Amino acid sequence: MANGFIDKARILVRAGAGGGGAVAFHREKYVAAGGPDGGDGGRGGDICLRVDEHMSTLMDFRYKRKYVAPNGLPGQGNRKSGKDGDDLTIRVPRGTVVRDAETGEIICDMAGQDTFVLCRGGRGGWGNQHFATPTRQVPHFAKAGLPGQERDVILELKLLADVGLVGFPNVGKSTLLSVVTRAQPKIANYHFTTLSPNLGVVALEEGTSFVLADIPGIIEGAAEGAGLGHDFLRHIDRCRLLIHLVDVSGSEGRDPVEDFEAINAELAQYSPELAQRPMIVAGNKVDIVAHDREALEALKAHVEKLGLPFFELSAAAHQGTRELMYAAAERLQELPPITVYEPTYVEKPKEVDMSEPPTIEVIDGTWVVDGPWLRQLMANVNFGDYESRNWFDRQLRQSGLFARLEEMGIQDGDTICLYNLEFEYQR
Ligand code: GDP
Ligand code: MG
Repeated sequence: MANGFIDKARILVRAGAGGGGAVAFHREKYVAAGGPDGGDGGRGGDICLRVDEHMSTLMDFRYKRKYVAPNGLPGQGNRKSGKDGDDLTIRVPRGTVVRDAETGEIICDMAGQDTFVLCRGGRGGWGNQHFATPTRQVPHFAKAGLPGQERDVILELKLLADVGLVGFPNVGKSTLLSVVTRAQPKIANYHFTTLSPNLGVVALEEGTSFVLADIPGIIEGAAEGAGLGHDFLRHIDRCRLLIHLVDVSGSEGRDPVEDFEAINAELAQYSPELAQRPMIVAGNKVDIVAHDREALEALKAHVEKLGLPFFELSAAAHQGTRELMYAAAERLQELPPITVYEPTYVEKPKEVDMSEPPTIEVIDGTWVVDGPWLRQLMANVNFGDYESRNWFDRQLRQSGLFARLEEMGIQDGDTICLYNLEFEYQR
């Protein structure tokens, strides 16, 4: 967009992988064979989101599309753990909605919260200090770290405003905003002057205030992608109330009733729910209506028949603006608060490509299994959770791992080691 207003972006985010555990043995002068003292790998860094109140667009994401948090460092001898990877914090404007790029499900709405952990770093692998047992005093293996979560997400800015101004281009929306708030939007007598939404605070006496948003012109046919319209409509998604501005001066040879219905049709096409949003209608530019009030009266009758409040207005002459703002404030009192979206995203175990068989080694009498798919699988399991463990068990069986172990001669009671998990084999 010409002025660089960016309110939608797709980014790839990846948390850091855990560092590998160390294989090391305690060394001291005159002590022949020390015990295993390999330390654990550090955790990978998380990817975090944080609201930055000074940001008002998603412009930062236009050129930088990939965000990767650092990995944890490997463990060392002497039971020294590797350093954790630092978290990577991504700043976003308030009101940013984060969706899964594939399914469109909402992961989080940065309207009601200031921070969110978008991807968790991978756990570090255990060093060999953990693998010593009475029968295996010298374990020569340690574990690799697990991969960090990775996501492909869409960021979408949905402004936080109580009231949204809608209407054709040039009807006076920006003028109204500039008159009733301190905002200074561009005002000009041609279409599409407003290329980005503007916000302003309407402060009434006795302390009442609300946020008003001037949404760029919706044009006919925008629903079919003909212009700016629809992309910007997302900014009124959260609005509690709409003020629909119509030019009743006939200065452009337009019919106010037709205009009013055309905009409503656009709203309905974008979202049937938005078409039901409470609305106040204002006929603007009454200062130049002069003697011919026919078009104005026709709109008024049409609107009132629909049960909507109607106001006469001259934004430029500051006529009727106060009444309109008071009516809006009064209406807001009985309306629910600004919408904050509930997450709809459900964490699903990622599909893991198991085509590549794992490596199986017998080390110190233990069946040590390794392979990238196993790491991925384990990164997805919450071992504290019964369901999750069951899922893991099924995946392991499906992978054919146990069949291969059988072929290789595993016996009941032998120890199997999968990363940080050790268990006895039972047929
Ligand atoms: P927007 O495209 O809806 O934001 O419209 P603007 O606020 O940019 O106004 C478009 C043109 O209409 C500008 O030339 C304004 O000065 C003019 N205008 C706005 N309100 C009024 C009004 O109440 N009376 C008259 N005569 N002109 C107005
Ligand atoms: Mg404008």
